[in-house]
Amino acid sequence: MESMIYNNMQTVRKNISDACKRSQRPISSVTLLAVSKTKPIAMLVAAHKADATEFGENKVQEIVEKSAVLGTEDYHFHMIGHLQKNKVKKAVLLSCLIHSVDSLELAEVIQKEAEKINKVQEILLEVNVAEEDSKYGLSLSDVEPLVRKIAAFPNIRVRGLMTVAPYTENPENNRIFFRKLRQLLIDINGKSIDNISMDILSMGMTGDYSVAIEEGATHIRVGTGIFGERDYSTKDLK
Ligand SMILES: *Cc1c(COP(=O)(O)O)cnc(C)c1O
Repeated sequence: MESMIYNNMQTVRKNISDACKRSQRPISSVTLLAVSKTKPIAMLVAAHKADATEFGENKVQEIVEKSAVLGTEDYHFHMIGHLQKNKVKKAVLLSCLIHSVDSLELAEVIQKEAEKINKVQEILLEVNVAEEDSKYGLSLSDVEPLVRKIAAFPNIRVRGLMTVAPYTENPENNRIFFRKLRQLLIDINGKSIDNISMDILSMGMTGDYSVAIEEGATHIRVGTGIFGERDYSTKDLK
């Protein structure tokens, strides 16, 4: 298992490096998140030995359990899944970045909990660029009005935008969605909103991260490509 994860990490890093060369970007401009949802702690440790420091989880409970063992100094947990309001307190306590904010109501709860522990919580707004019915996220036109409202929240810093592109066999099909998200970030930054200067684009997963990097991704979220297929059959993990 350890060598499989090591080899997968090497492959992903080579692909990141190739995509950066093609698009004339420095490798340091891309942050790799190892998406460890449903995976046991031993696998996070193996990825960490292969130099992973950023871990993506889609359930707060998994962050609670894994951080209790691994801490949050060497293992940085990113909340990338849909966040329920009653889980915000722990998400704010334990995650370095929340990628999945998609409503004012959720931002208000994050503000309240972050204020209580005197933290400035960094967040991304999740955008459903492809307008899929099955997905969470804001529509493109809802993003700027929400950014303007959250800009006034003292305990939240909006670092950028995130999207989960459609599942597809051909990653080229998603290029248009990545391009649209990047353009939206540029457009909003261009409006010089007080307290808003977004620098993170979280986009690209195992099937399409090379294309996402070519289109400006700063954070890619790779699960299967590092840890192998997920098995949802044995446990109540989704
Ligand atoms: C599971 C998940 C990923 C990783 O997906 P893979 O296809 O396994 O790389 C990325 N982002 C989000 C939001 C996820 O839920």
